Amino acid sequence: MIQLDEIYEVPAALLEIKDAKALHMVFPNPTLLYLEGHHEAPLFVTVLLHGNEDTGLFAIQRILQKYQTHPLPRSLIVFFGNVSAARVGMRRLDGQPDYNRIWPLGTETDTAEGKMVAKVVTKVAAHKPFASIDIHNNTGKNPYYGCVNALDADSLYLASLFARTVVYFETPKGVQSMAMAAHCPAVTVECGKPHLEQGFAHAAEFVDSMLHLSAFPQHAIHQESTVYHTTARVTIPDAYSFGFDREDVDIRLLPELEKDNFSELPAGTVFAYIAEGSEARFHAFDDEGVDHFERYFVVESNKIKLKKPIMPSMITLDERVIRQDCLCYFMESIVPQQQEHGGFDYRLASY
Ligand SMILES: [Zn+2]
Repeated sequence: MIQLDEIYEVPAALLEIKDAKALHMVFPNPTLLYLEGHHEAPLFVTVLLHGNEDTGLFAIQRILQKYQTHPLPRSLIVFFGNVSAARVGMRRLDGQPDYNRIWPLGTETDTAEGKMVAKVVTKVAAHKPFASIDIHNNTGKNPYYGCVNALDADSLYLASLFARTVVYFETPKGVQSMAMAAHCPAVTVECGKPHLEQGFAHAAEFVDSMLHLSAFPQHAIHQESTVYHTTARVTIPDAYSFGFDREDVDIRLLPELEKDNFSELPAGTVFAYIAEGSEARFHAFDDEGVDHFERYFVVESNKIKLKKPIMPSMITLDERVIRQDCLCYFMESIVPQQQEHGGFDYRLASY
């Protein structure tokens, strides 16, 4: 069993922390912090589900500093997640499940960590939350974007307040925003790389704007937003070696691809080189785990090229992350249908 602590006042030491590695001295266990504000229905914010992603912690620290001397416009509940991984600056400790896969409706709920966060959801849901925000960072270069797991107007509006780019996804399961979507509009926000001042400021501004929002407006999403749907998760089969600057591998990846996150690449773009005579391929899994390599790629002599225009996201140069997780996601935009009453309908076309 994992201890879940609950507190009702801001510890002074929390406002002084300059490094997420020190958080365990304030919160030795995963902790829920409840604070009352003018509007009763709380905003729920989770930080440090990944121990090396500190933007959420420092965004919340700014909010707590700002409201030290005057009341919050809305009640706030903060969950400080994987504090033991944060202590060593890792995404998760060896032997721990990923805190971003263990939430209700996921596949790793039957773990000590999964049971602990299920308790978090029950407790927060009892307060009838106004909205939920889960704050993360990326390892690769990406713009700010919000992820939703539901396409209702309120969820899209929430995400559009954080960034113009909104991503809708159905897998992986077990993320916080999917579990919380059953109770209120919920978003996962990706704040670029960790440790950056501008990311702290942007996330804090977003949380503050949600604390000030008294109700969700009728006419939904910010007009300039674009909603993308992740259609494939690109991985490298274990059987093949890969690398960026080496010739002695089955698949040689191109470091310059990292700058193409969230830009549309034309058909024919070279995605990788394969070794002479090698049968090496990627996998391009859909939400059901079915591989569609041929839908997205063509192999020409020693090159793997894009078969059609694609917008990639989360391309990383971190070889460990590629091996453990994936090389990138492929996305297609969802074109909204204008409705009679002036709103937009973002229902999915079939893929
Ligand atoms: Zn994360």
